[in-house]
Amino acid sequence: MDSLDAFARGKLDALEAGSLRRRLTPTERGPGAAAARGGRTLVSFSCNDYLGLSHHPRVIAAAQAAVAAHGAGAGGSRLVTGDHPYLGALEAGLARHKGAEAALVFGSGYLANLGITPALAGRGDLVLLDDLSHACMWAGARLSGARVLTFRHNDPGDLARTLAEHRAQHGRALVLTERVFSMDGDRAPLGDILGVAQDFDAWTLVDDAHGIGVVEDGPRAPLEMGTLSKALGSYGGYLCASRPVIELLTSRARSFVYTTGLPPASAAAALEALAILEAEPERRARPLALARRFTARLGLPEAESAVVPVLIGEAQAALEISAALEAAGFLVVAIRPPTVPTGTARLRVAFSAAHDETQVDALAAAVAALTGRA
Ligand SMILES: *Cc1c(COP(=O)(O)O)cnc(C)c1O
Repeated sequence: MDSLDAFARGKLDALEAGSLRRRLTPTERGPGAAAARGGRTLVSFSCNDYLGLSHHPRVIAAAQAAVAAHGAGAGGSRLVTGDHPYLGALEAGLARHKGAEAALVFGSGYLANLGITPALAGRGDLVLLDDLSHACMWAGARLSGARVLTFRHNDPGDLARTLAEHRAQHGRALVLTERVFSMDGDRAPLGDILGVAQDFDAWTLVDDAHGIGVVEDGPRAPLEMGTLSKALGSYGGYLCASRPVIELLTSRARSFVYTTGLPPASAAAALEALAILEAEPERRARPLALARRFTARLGLPEAESAVVPVLIGEAQAALEISAALEAAGFLVVAIRPPTVPTGTARLRVAFSAAHDETQVDALAAAVAALTGRA
């Protein structure tokens, strides 16, 4: 065995020993929160398709028409030949929806975060992250070359202390947090965070991946990024900000400049999804209402978003409960370290407008039985 394979095998053995090895499971999603895997069709509570729009007939039709007219791929980067007019229309729609001056669409949410922070902060600057921030916010922060510090999760007081101690020694300062945290489903106290950041002349970037279309109340940050791949049911990422910031990023965000533009069909699908989302407030209200129904049944703290964590603890135990739920017809993937802190492996339950009350009640009963909450 050569040293490369020996290295890979050694790492895999260590991951296996810690129940941390990841494996792919081919899955075909259908309408109505259905997910087929291993020859069985399950009710999925693990998709981020919060409004069920990835399978909406109008969204599918928009994508099909765009492929037929404009082809499968963009053919080039946005700054060369990949700037299909659908992208500009989508940017205008996103900016209007979020009450921002302008928007910029990226290839994915991950790419957006990889490009935004390094374009705004660098050596000699300071980046402060909530310590439960998503992996791609960390990646952007590290890539920027700025000093990276954390503040305690959802703790504006700790943010203020950290800024008081370190702000003066740095040039620009950027605060990173999330409207809705992806693995805990709780919401940042954005009013307080924005206030503290402003007091210290720090800019705030909010990751709205799990907010748009589901929980949209509360103040807006000067920098709001998000994804087209969750409630909008398509693929791609975006930043909403002022016009000068968007124009700067168009020239300087490397994960925007040096990558192929989003396929026109992805933009067309997201644009149609945005129109449906805006026209149907009942659809937007459903994921949170169903999540609250679930937390009430299980005696958990009331859901703040479409994401509800059921904490288990050890990775192996979380995997076993997930397997038992699958046997009962529910897809609820176990989330393990390093995605979440050690000892906090959990079921991450995601609710969608595509679920009905009966499915939610059946899942609650199954979880109660398996976790001893019954
Ligand atoms: C999913 C997610 C992203 C990444 O978005 P993609 O478009 O899937 O790359 C970024 N931030 C958070 C908080 C997310 O949950």
